[in-house]
Amino acid sequence: MRKCVKCGKKAQVYLPQYRLSLCAEHYLEWYENRVERTIREFNMIKKEDRVLVAVSGGKDSLSLWQALNKLGYSADGLYINLGIGESSQKSQKACEEFVKRWNRELHVVDLRSEILPIPQLKEIDPRPACSVCGTVKRYYMNKVAREKGYNVLATGHNLDDESAVLFSNTLSWNIEYLRRQYPVLPEGDGFVKKVKPLCKLSEKENALYAFLSGIDFVEEECPFAEGSTSIDYKLYLSALEERMPGTKLRFYSEFLRKMHPILKESEEKPTLQKCKICQEPSSSEICAVCRLKEKVYIQR
Ligand code: SF4
Ligand code: ZN
Ligand code: ZN
Repeated sequence: MRKCVKCGKKAQVYLPQYRLSLCAEHYLEWYENRVERTIREFNMIKKEDRVLVAVSGGKDSLSLWQALNKLGYSADGLYINLGIGESSQKSQKACEEFVKRWNRELHVVDLRSEILPIPQLKEIDPRPACSVCGTVKRYYMNKVAREKGYNVLATGHNLDDESAVLFSNTLSWNIEYLRRQYPVLPEGDGFVKKVKPLCKLSEKENALYAFLSGIDFVEEECPFAEGSTSIDYKLYLSALEERMPGTKLRFYSEFLRKMHPILKESEEKPTLQKCKICQEPSSSEICAVCRLKEKVYIQR
């Protein structure tokens, strides 16, 4: 029987890459310390900041929201209802139930009234559903955060997400994307500071935290996630991780430590302007969401 290294009680969790056995209580403590260490390492959030956490109802974002609150940060939530059938309703419910446990605010943006649900937007935009969805989510996350007076926007991207994106960008040597792959994006030009405090915690570690803290999260994957290449990359990396624990963390952390500073040196700042229609930051005269809205009106 494995014993918790902290208290000697029966261990409920074993973390192979750290060779660490922990009981439930000490796992929760370990996890929150890990979040705090990441926040400090990258200078992500200060105690006086007003943080908005983008929540989806899943294990990662709800774990992040809880950990931030337990660590003493002032963090409210933002749920964007994507209008993806039953699954969006369930996810919204999970966030609404979660917020009752904490004396915090949950803001909700509903794409059905803002523009169109993702399944319909996908019909009028030739890009894959996830690209359209990503554009719309980024737009509303930034807009709501800024308009409601939050100065930091936190997302629940985990180590599996970040290492899969890094793997994909490395396979194609996409320097521009590699340069932007950093867990903190500073504020400026109408953008709120963006942070990813779970970038060094795996999907499994987040699921364990959510489960052992009794968070009622939604387990179902979005139907559009199926068949995406990022899932293949995650599977390959997980197979490597299985044989060599710590591979994902090493791949990602060493990129940030050794490669990212070199890429940063040759960075050219993109020229941004305000969208003529909505005044949000944009790389062209009219932003991507206003262009989408125009298409929606033309179709009606
Ligand atoms: Fe949006 Fe794609 Fe994620 Fe579904 S899987 S929520 S469509 S980004
Ligand atoms: Zn213990
Ligand atoms: Zn616009």
